[in-house]
Amino acid sequence: MAINADVLENLVQRVLEEIRKDRAAGGSGFTGLADCVDEVVERAVDAQRRLSALSMERRGRIIEAMRRAALQNNETLSALAVRETKLGRFEDKVRENILCATKTPGIEDLRPEATSGDHGLMLLEYAPVGVIGALTPITNPTGTLINNSISMIAAGNSVVFNPHPSARETSTRMIEVLHQAIVDAGGPPGLVGSVRHPTLETAKSLIEHPRVNMLVATGGRPVVNVVLRSGKKAIGAGAGNPPVLVDETANIRNAARSIVNGASINNNIFCTCEKEVIVVEEVADSLLKFLQETGKVYVMNREEAERVTQLVVTPEGKINTAYIGRDVQVILREVGINLSEEYRIAVFEAPPSHPLVWLEQMMPVLPIVRVKDFDEGLRFAVEVEQGNRHTAVMHSTHVERMTAFARAVQTTIFVKNGPSYAGIGLGGEGHTSFTIAGPTGEGLTSARTFTRQRRCTLVESFRII
Ligand code: NAD
Repeated sequence: MAINADVLENLVQRVLEEIRKDRAAGGSGFTGLADCVDEVVERAVDAQRRLSALSMERRGRIIEAMRRAALQNNETLSALAVRETKLGRFEDKVRENILCATKTPGIEDLRPEATSGDHGLMLLEYAPVGVIGALTPITNPTGTLINNSISMIAAGNSVVFNPHPSARETSTRMIEVLHQAIVDAGGPPGLVGSVRHPTLETAKSLIEHPRVNMLVATGGRPVVNVVLRSGKKAIGAGAGNPPVLVDETANIRNAARSIVNGASINNNIFCTCEKEVIVVEEVADSLLKFLQETGKVYVMNREEAERVTQLVVTPEGKINTAYIGRDVQVILREVGINLSEEYRIAVFEAPPSHPLVWLEQMMPVLPIVRVKDFDEGLRFAVEVEQGNRHTAVMHSTHVERMTAFARAVQTTIFVKNGPSYAGIGLGGEGHTSFTIAGPTGEGLTSARTFTRQRRCTLVESFRII
């Protein structure tokens, strides 16, 4: 579903007009946004207490209302996200929001556990932690909010977000939409909230606020380290550099198609996207041929790749953030290459030491490294993953090799014979999460992640057999 610039602009104008009208109408009711952290947190404390008094059935209805509201506002908010952040593609933002609204588990994730025996019954339940402070990335200014708030509220918590300041307009609107849906479904105001103008200062106040019980950071390594140093219970979902390893036993045509789709979704800004291809020499030419045959891949020659590298990697060896999440046409035009709009990604053959093999580029420019054989490929893929424990992909039909790679790379997500996004439930089995907690080990977070366990023991009774 490609979209032209006029339609996109119309959607943006529609949502901006809605925002203007809502804010002009004012009213005394809280809309989810406040001027200072203290106010949002106090409201969140009160809302969480009131949520605890509601039935699970009502909590379930609140979650359903949040899902519906996210879907109803999907197109306008996706358009606003692209316009505000300049990252990603409209049609992929729409897919991301549908995924988060429909495949984030709700209250069913909290199924209690029970054990009975000679000494009676033990019941284990998943209880709320209270108020959660959540820091969200610029790359997913709606998806992470939908996913986190469904998970956290389903678990009986309230959540105060500090969205990325450069996604302020989109993320705060998303919060208002979710807040309204909650209140309309009979939930307490304040269950989801944010300051109107999130900054690094407000993030700090939220992290240090004594009434915030748990912190969740979705972003790069520095912010994960900040919450881990807070002294509070913290969940960190950090950066990745997912390698894709292709061996000579793979279905190469399927590998090519999967790599293009996985690496180009949202212009490569998902943390799970394939960031470098490692291919066994014997099938490297055939992979390149099938990549080209998709009609979506531009194969750069050495000199073109050099010019693009100079553009997107700074002299200090960092990614030039101006090109993150941009369309491949925009990036290549800067070095004098004009591509028609069917192209989604540019690839090039790179030596193992190439900076784009090691950096998390988050743009549709993908290095391909040839290796002698599977063993060399495995060693190299583990090295370039750099211990992020995030995501790895393999194309192979050799079961022992798949097992060997999965064991060696130790990632939270390991996808075989499909695009990386199958690992977050898009065209693959399992629930979705946009907070993939590799550093702290919770994996693909869901309601149960944001709980504390409580045990209830009944002695010498209730064993009925
Ligand atoms: P980022 O780390 O720059 O920002 C993330 C959030 O943390 C933002 O709200 C930001 O304002 C805040 N923040 C950053 N530094 C902070 C500090 N010192 N103190 C307090 N708050 C701070 O990341 P980004 O550029 O917005 O997002 C892209 C990154 O996020 C990539 O590295 C990507 O891999 C990662 N990511 C990971 C996941 C996951 O589930 N593991 C999901 C999405 C994105």
